[in-house]
Amino acid sequence: MAKLSVRDLNVSGKRVFMRVDYNVPMEEKDGKMVINDTTRIKETLPTLRLLLGNGARLVLAAHLGRPDGKREPSMSLAPVAAKLGEMLGQPVGFLEECVGAKAEAAVAALGNGQALLLENVRYHAEEENNDPVFSAQLARLADVYVNDAFGAAHRAHASTSGVARIVHAWGGPCAAGLLMERELKFLGDELDRPARPFVVILGGAKVSDKIKVIDRLLEKADTILIGGAMAYTFKLAHGGKTGKSLVEKDHTGTALAAEAKAKERKVQFCLPSDTVIADLKDTGKLNKKGRPVFEPINPRVISGDIPDDAEGFDIGPATAQAYAAIIQGAKTILWNGPMGMFEDKRFAEGTNAVAQAVVSATQQHGAKSIIGGGDSVKAINKAGLGDKVTFASTGGGASLEFLEGIPLPGVVCLDDK
Ligand code: AMP
Repeated sequence: MAKLSVRDLNVSGKRVFMRVDYNVPMEEKDGKMVINDTTRIKETLPTLRLLLGNGARLVLAAHLGRPDGKREPSMSLAPVAAKLGEMLGQPVGFLEECVGAKAEAAVAALGNGQALLLENVRYHAEEENNDPVFSAQLARLADVYVNDAFGAAHRAHASTSGVARIVHAWGGPCAAGLLMERELKFLGDELDRPARPFVVILGGAKVSDKIKVIDRLLEKADTILIGGAMAYTFKLAHGGKTGKSLVEKDHTGTALAAEAKAKERKVQFCLPSDTVIADLKDTGKLNKKGRPVFEPINPRVISGDIPDDAEGFDIGPATAQAYAAIIQGAKTILWNGPMGMFEDKRFAEGTNAVAQAVVSATQQHGAKSIIGGGDSVKAINKAGLGDKVTFASTGGGASLEFLEGIPLPGVVCLDDK
């Protein structure tokens, strides 16, 4: 059922407690923390502008990093408040606390159309424990609850769900922000009733991470294209040799079961016909876990078995071409997980070819393309194509759980329309 939206609310003069995802990448420069990427802040601006324009007194809550219940200065949200003020074109107050008398007084002093950002809610261990007392303290700052933090909606924490339950019990509305609403529309409604053919592209590291998504999408998709290291577990399951590639030996049965279900449901299920492999050179260095670090050398394309000493890092050109042709004919596309180790440009060609095909299906053939978060969004942005798809999810873990059909606590707690 559709969730209540910020667009449905009368917020004039009301204290709106809004959970946002400001978990932005930061870096220390000359003793100061600076924000490396402001995408997450930018994504919230439409909801903020709507609420402030309608006269809300806006209280923003967010987490940054994993301070584990301690006041860790490098994880303060102070730089975010400053950047947000700049981007919004009006000052945003910053409060060094998120609960207590000081916070309550600052919120009481807010005028209509003014905003402040509370300090990192994870400075309190009670946040992640969804502590009812802490939730009630946060709720003292709220007449209305809004959640725009889709990326944190799979967590049942105080600020993502506990506060909402209390506001709801008091009779206050709990609504989805515009960003949250778009996530639910594209990852939910659009995929529930897809225009056909519906092509799903799944890649990434592990079958075990994606099997629930595969299983659920087998109920809806016309075609599933498999890439990434995940493909090698399927290869192994068919008796192929995978050399030193990333495989999950105990998930060959899972892989075969997925293929059997695809056959039963008449879903076209495609595995790579060729692979980019490389030999592994010992660098003599050790990683953080004390294991030797190998560097891939001598990349080349093969079809068939992967030699014992080599590792697979990408889908090959024949596979990329075949997948691109299928993608071009799609009317709905969902993509989750890169086709190879795209962070190394020698192994990014498969992922880039798929990204190009998704963009051309969208731009030239009117397909709806939905990029399901995490590394596939990184990959499409790295290829400079992020704004040429229909929708790129802001959630990593949250999108995956949502696509698996798991109810997200940060969504469940919102009022139905
Ligand atoms: P996931 O989070 O499961 O979507 O996995 C994304 C990660 O899988 C990325 O960091 C890729 O580098 C990695 N990956 C994809 N294909 C391969 C491969 N063939 N070998 C090693 N890593 C891969």
